[in-house]
Amino acid sequence: MRWSRVGFVLLSSFVIVAAFSFVSLMRPEAAPAAGSAEQQALKSFAALHPIDVHVHVFKTDPAFQSMLERLDLKVLNILVMDDTLSYRKKLQPQVDDALALMRSSHGHVALCTTFDPYTFDSPSFTADAIKQIDRDFADGAVAVKIWKNIGMEIRDQSGKYVMADGEKFEPIYRDIAAHGKTLMTHQAEPNVAWGPADPADPSWSYYQENPQWYVGDKKGFPSKQTILAARDRVLEKNPKLKMVGVHLGSMERSLDDIARHLDRYPNFAIDTAGRMEYLMLMPREQVRNFLIRYQDRILYGTDLDLLATANVAETVTEWQSTYARDWEFLATGGLVRMEDKQVQGLELPRAVLEKIFRDNARVWIPGI
Ligand SMILES: [Zn+2]
Repeated sequence: MRWSRVGFVLLSSFVIVAAFSFVSLMRPEAAPAAGSAEQQALKSFAALHPIDVHVHVFKTDPAFQSMLERLDLKVLNILVMDDTLSYRKKLQPQVDDALALMRSSHGHVALCTTFDPYTFDSPSFTADAIKQIDRDFADGAVAVKIWKNIGMEIRDQSGKYVMADGEKFEPIYRDIAAHGKTLMTHQAEPNVAWGPADPADPSWSYYQENPQWYVGDKKGFPSKQTILAARDRVLEKNPKLKMVGVHLGSMERSLDDIARHLDRYPNFAIDTAGRMEYLMLMPREQVRNFLIRYQDRILYGTDLDLLATANVAETVTEWQSTYARDWEFLATGGLVRMEDKQVQGLELPRAVLEKIFRDNARVWIPGI
């Protein structure tokens, strides 16, 4: 009895030690936390030569570069001016860093530039913006971003919020279209930014960390509809301008609304950046039918970032697990984790996956 107990203890310790050594042997160097299911998903993802049209990279780093090469991944690095964050306050240093990153990336990083919207009241605003983006086009930028500070933050001299269809923007849009480049628009925010508070919303934690963009308690603030209507007028007035409405075109709660926009504006496409969870929460068949129906108008994007202060190894692990999860959700029929839930993957046809993960980016963002 006693001996068998000792034997059992010895045997169990052996099993535990052996299991640990086995697990550590199985861990590939580059992705310490990844399991084999994740490795399999990343392999299938990489085989597609994927393009992520929505990332923010503030650092040139060999471990990051080798992840891009391992995943055969191309990313569109998007610049934004944000006077609420120190590292996004000034534009030119961001452009300089982004060009250096692009040039050292062996074709893995493309650039989406922007212009300074905070000088809106300057008499030379429009001319300065065009000068900026033309110089960046000449240096290789393939797109221009306008951000939510237009519509939600910047006001004109009379105190009115500046909207995307403001007259001063028109020549900028015409210039982008004339160069055959693409306008990426992040206008407004998820519905939950207008309240009421909803901890179950996938974006809610963002407003806990960035309360400056929560407007549910701000009196006299423009409605989301007002801001998106201004964007729609830009589409209407500039039929030759290719526009990608990022974050599901900010219509994250309504596939019908997105469909209406895609039907009405042939120059409009959307990206999935930072909003995959909303798709995961909707009825599976509805999302699947939508993605198949609009397979030429949806671009894969993540909104992943690599901050200058980031731990690169941790960031690479996070990026890889996002790519693996998104692949499993769109490409497989298996169960995919989403917060505390599991949802079934959409198992989209191969031809649709090729468009969403790669080809639509090339069509909608020429030169990427
Ligand atoms: Zn973004």
